[in-house]
Amino acid sequence: MTLLELEGLKVRYGRIEAIHDMSITVEKGEVVSLIGANGAGKTTTMRTISGLLTPSAGTIRFDGEDITKLAAHKRVSLGISQAPEGRGVFPGMTVAENLDMGTFGRKDRSGIAADLERVFTLFPRLKERRTQVGGTMSGGEQQMLAIGRSLMSSPRLLLLDEPSMGLAPQFIRQIFTIIAEIAKQGTTILLVEQNANQALARSDRAYVLETGTITKTGPGRELMADPAIKEAYLGVA
Ligand code: ATP
Repeated sequence: MTLLELEGLKVRYGRIEAIHDMSITVEKGEVVSLIGANGAGKTTTMRTISGLLTPSAGTIRFDGEDITKLAAHKRVSLGISQAPEGRGVFPGMTVAENLDMGTFGRKDRSGIAADLERVFTLFPRLKERRTQVGGTMSGGEQQMLAIGRSLMSSPRLLLLDEPSMGLAPQFIRQIFTIIAEIAKQGTTILLVEQNANQALARSDRAYVLETGTITKTGPGRELMADPAIKEAYLGVA
């Protein structure tokens, strides 16, 4: 079953078209990654899916429903949640308050309590630090907090924008292990990454984005073995 479908998507910034005719699908339960260099259009794609940017052409379907013109907050209610690039935690708020912001619009108290438990189990560090203000946490901890906050909306589709950005290698491995665990628990994930190694290793399928166009797609492990991808994205000649 297809959960997310982008068809013939075009996104423009004024006269510049950043995304050209993009078509991708994400099936229920999959981890799909979109890899590409700086400026390829990864963040633009994510912001279009979450409704922060409006495409100039094409269709976005979520669970069979056309959401191309739906407001961003309504997409959150449908189950689409984005953990933004650069973490975007509220620096003056505590960990607990940041997590609470992720429940905006929800009224199911027992569901919220269960999701908080889920987040604290995935990220024990957040439980230990729940009274600490977000802005004083390390980069890796803030990344965990941003993902945790996204999970507090109980998403069916989690959009992760460069979860490994700026993190030390041991944190990168840890974040990807947790992403795999979130997927195993049944949340579908679309992630964008410049750091392709871990992303491809952990993805069911991946798409390669080059200057706004999808140039390759296939199972993550297959793309990892592709010589052109090795050279361009995996730092192996
Ligand atoms: P990065 O990894 O550097 O974030 P990216 O793959 O996420 O790169 P985007 O940020 O989506 O790339 O940018 C895609 C293209 O659109 C780039 O050429 C960029 O310069 C351009 N672009 C992005 N944001 C804007 C904007 N607000 N106004 C004009 N052009 C923009």
